[in-house]
Amino acid sequence: MRTKIVAGNWKMNKTPAEAKALIAAIRAELDGLDCPVEVVVCPPFVALAVAAEALKGSRIGLGAQTMHAAASGAFTGEVSAAMLVETGVKYVILGHSERRTLFGETDAAVNAKTQAALAAGLTPIICVGETLQEREANRTADVVTSQLKGSLAGLGAALERCVIAYEPVWAIGTGRTATPGQAQEVHALIRRVLAELAGGKVANGVRIQYGGSMKPDNAAELMAQPDIDGGLIGGAALKADSFAAIVKAGC
Ligand code: PEP
Repeated sequence: MRTKIVAGNWKMNKTPAEAKALIAAIRAELDGLDCPVEVVVCPPFVALAVAAEALKGSRIGLGAQTMHAAASGAFTGEVSAAMLVETGVKYVILGHSERRTLFGETDAAVNAKTQAALAAGLTPIICVGETLQEREANRTADVVTSQLKGSLAGLGAALERCVIAYEPVWAIGTGRTATPGQAQEVHALIRRVLAELAGGKVANGVRIQYGGSMKPDNAAELMAQPDIDGGLIGGAALKADSFAAIVKAGC
């Protein structure tokens, strides 16, 4: 049995004061809820310390949206895994499509970051997904397989400590969601690739989130699919009621 995991990717939204207020509102919805879903919020770097404080005493975990692979050094503007850990961070999103397309993050870079995150005790949430052009050219399986093999190379059994997020790029922030059938088909493929990389036992334990315009009204159907183990939520994570409704859809 895999525990579902729902994570909110706040992207470049919410100042520290706004983050504190949003966490208070999310806690008002979720504290005391009897539900096995693992819940994570991922605010911007500058809001992480305030968020860690605001999350004290709750079972909601704190995540970052990226990190650098190196331990320290001359990397202006970057943040290391150890810095995140000391701030109270437990999860880190790696290889989000916006990082890949806007900031040139390659599979090799995602791989280096994943190794560093695992070494620091963080849970990486590693994103993969095809563009619309790639889907229409019937290249979804090839693209996702090659992203997985590149991003997860050399992890072996440590793969069991990773979360994978399947995020079709054409569904992110567009209001266009993959149908449960489309998503399940790719999630099943991802699990087969994970089995190739680390064996069936490890692959069966890895949580695979769906991301891409997941909302309260489509979350339950998506998360009911056999290989969909939660969601990575963008827009709908910026409001306490919609984020909480998605969590509850997974309970
Ligand atoms: C995301 O960016 O990870 C995401 C899934 O965004 P949205 O839910 O807004 O499509």
